Amino acid sequence: MKQILVTGGAGFIGSNFIQYMLAKYAYKIINLDLLTYAGNLENLAEVENHPQYTFIKGDIRDREILEKVFEAYQIDTVINFAAESHVDRSIDDPEVFLTTNILGTQALLDIAKKYWNLEADNRYSKAYKNDVKFIQISTDEVYGTLGTTGLFTEETPLAPNSPYSASKTSADLMVRAYHETYGLPINITRCSNNYGPYQHTEKLIPLMITHCKQDKKLPVYGDGMQIRDWLYVEDHCSAIDIVLHKGINGEVYNVGGNNEKANIEIVKLIISNLHKSEELIDYVADRPGHDRRYAIDNTKITSELGWAPKYSFEEGIQQTIDWYMKIIANE
Ligand code: NAD
Repeated sequence: MKQILVTGGAGFIGSNFIQYMLAKYAYKIINLDLLTYAGNLENLAEVENHPQYTFIKGDIRDREILEKVFEAYQIDTVINFAAESHVDRSIDDPEVFLTTNILGTQALLDIAKKYWNLEADNRYSKAYKNDVKFIQISTDEVYGTLGTTGLFTEETPLAPNSPYSASKTSADLMVRAYHETYGLPINITRCSNNYGPYQHTEKLIPLMITHCKQDKKLPVYGDGMQIRDWLYVEDHCSAIDIVLHKGINGEVYNVGGNNEKANIEIVKLIISNLHKSEELIDYVADRPGHDRRYAIDNTKITSELGWAPKYSFEEGIQQTIDWYMKIIANE
């Protein structure tokens, strides 16, 4: 039975992942989260007393707490979701993106290596305990931006454009280095934009739904023609599940929903769904360094591991809108 350390599990994707895993497996899940502005334990209210689940408030940069957690729970799997994740915030204040996203990942790698390597004092040893794995949850933003054609494959050169994506790229390279240098068993997943329940309202889809419902202005960057490849969060959870169980040691897997949409298309769809007026749209100055288009080539994870997204964009967005409507109604 696995003992999984999920970091950043009180955030959007991590909290969906924990609920997904508890519903499916008998694994023990230890959620280590600093509870920054982005972490919310209410996301996990339904499982807080689940016998397989433990929450620990802590920072992935804090090696002492990491050691205690590895020791106390005999961790054999790390799934690192913890990160500063908002591009706009990284433009205004990059430093915490570097300390959490890069140094925090490195601290986790060090402690995993220490607890899992069978001869941790031997710099040449690549002998690890059985069935241990470190999964880094990364982003397609490490590849930079696309023109009107083409897709990101795992071979696309890394060319991050924002402080956020540069920090995630650095973390990916550190994870790769720990695999190449020390033999640490790893996988890296790079997903496109997620949407679904429990996302912070600073992000595009929840922001537009909540503002629209309350007849507030809907701020749209530039011409709104930035294209993202939207992935329903439950489909992302199933992809991580498959990488955990079937991922080949050392490999990177792209995860995308095959749903390319311009931001303005999504805003108009939400307006129409909530029967509001497009006059709410407020075009504002574009974000500096705003990537124009992201789109993922899923071939590797679909053909080699057998993963496929289950939700169409129409289904996923309807479920998301319904979920936020319920939350607003209960406030
Ligand atoms: P989020 O911002 O909703 O959640 C991040 C969580 O990490 C929060 O609970 C926060 O409290 C916690 N955290 C932050 N700093 C920490 C620290 N130092 N120690 C411990 N916990 C800390 O993020 P998300 O949208 O759930 O994203 C999860 C991961 O997926 C991130 O690594 C992100 O880069 C990646 N990702 C997200 C998307 C997306 O569309 N949301 C797309 C691609 C990749």
